[in-house]
Order: sequence, then C-alpha cells, then structure tokens
Amino acid sequence: MPKIILAVTEQRLTAAATTWIEAVLFNGALAVDVTVGNGYDTLFLAHRVGPKGTVLGFDVQKAALAGARELLKFVGTLDRVSLIHDSHAQLANYLPAEASIQGAMFNLGYLPRGNRQIITRPDTTVMALRAVLANLATRGRVTILAYRGHAGGIPEYVELRQFLEQLPDDPWIIEEFASITDSPVSPRLFRIQKKLVSEEQT
Ligand code: SAH
Repeated sequence: MPKIILAVTEQRLTAAATTWIEAVLFNGALAVDVTVGNGYDTLFLAHRVGPKGTVLGFDVQKAALAGARELLKFVGTLDRVSLIHDSHAQLANYLPAEASIQGAMFNLGYLPRGNRQIITRPDTTVMALRAVLANLATRGRVTILAYRGHAGGIPEYVELRQFLEQLPDDPWIIEEFASITDSPVSPRLFRIQKKLVSEEQT
C-alpha cells in the first residue's frame, strides 16, 4: 500500500496542481477536466494539449458548461474541447476506444457563486477516479483538490484518502499537499502519478 506523504507547499494549491500536470501534457495529448466548474482548469488543459489535443470536460450544471464554453470560445480553443453535460460517474462511457489519458484534474466541492447544494459526492468522485486511473497513460498525472470547509467536504476527503491508501504501490505514486495556512477546514491537494512498474520515484 502506498504511504501518502503529506508535504507543505508555499505555492497556491491550484498552482501546485497546474504546474505539475503541465509537465506531462503535449500537443496531441488527451486530458480530462472531471469537474469543469468555473472552467479555469478546462481553459488551462485546452491550452496545454495544443491544437491536436483533446479535452473532455464534465459537469452536471449547464450554467457551468455555458460559462466554460464562453471562456474557450474567447481564447479560441473550444475546437479541441468536448463539454459533457453528465455526471463524471459516467466518464468511462465517454472515453474514446483505447484512450490513454495524460492528465486529469478534479476540483471538488461546489461551484463558487453557484448553487451550493450541488456538490461533488464521494461515491461518484471515486467512480470517476477509478475510470481515470484505469485509462491513465504511463507517467500520466492526476490532481485532486479537495475542499474541507463545507458540509460534505470532510467525508469526501476522508473517503478519497481511504481509496487512495488502498491502491497498490506499483504503479502509483501518491502525494498530499497542504498550504502553509493549513487548518482542519483548509483544502488539500492529492497528486497521483502512474509510474513504470518498478521505476523509482524521480
Ligand atoms: N470548489 C472549487 C470549485 C469546484 S466546482 C473552487 O472553489 O474553486 C465543482 C463542480 O463540480 C461544480 O460545477 C459542480 O456542478 C460539479 N459537479 C458536482 N457533481 C458532479 C458530478 N457528479 N459530475 C460532474 N460534475 C459534478
């Protein structure tokens, strides 16, 4: 079982996610934004997968997808993005045959300035994560930003952590990050990488 090492970062957790993910993206890569929300991660991924790449973006709220569509249209990268109005629990059904995902981002919780009743849930979050991990490229990377300040946030964080802890050591490298202002209700970032089996962490 992988030991999840907890580290503290001076970076914003969102930046600790994007700078790490972008290192494995290239022109032509497949990336997934598991929770489109305000669309910033979708925008970032669309830029990094280049004109030949593809981004799949999921959200259950039409308003979130509409906002993301506007952003992508504005910067001219909508052509490589599929915005999917469905639960990420169905993620596996939307993957192309033999899909190899290079990068996937989860940004959990509720949509800021949106309906705070609509939050990600542990069971569907774990289903989406299973689908991503099952289709992740070797050296592919996944980031999960878990918010613990709202009702439902801590149970989701706990369940997610339990799921990650029972993954096999090969091929998974799992890290957890707290910010310098960490408290029991602060967000935490998980970073998961698929290594070549028996490859040492570099
Ligand atoms: N908490 C973050 C934003 C998270 S947005 C921040 O503060 O920046 C999370 C998004 O996930 C919301 O837009 C919500 O509609 C979406 N969501 C919730 N459940 C979902 C599901 N089962 N499938 C896909 N998207 C979902």
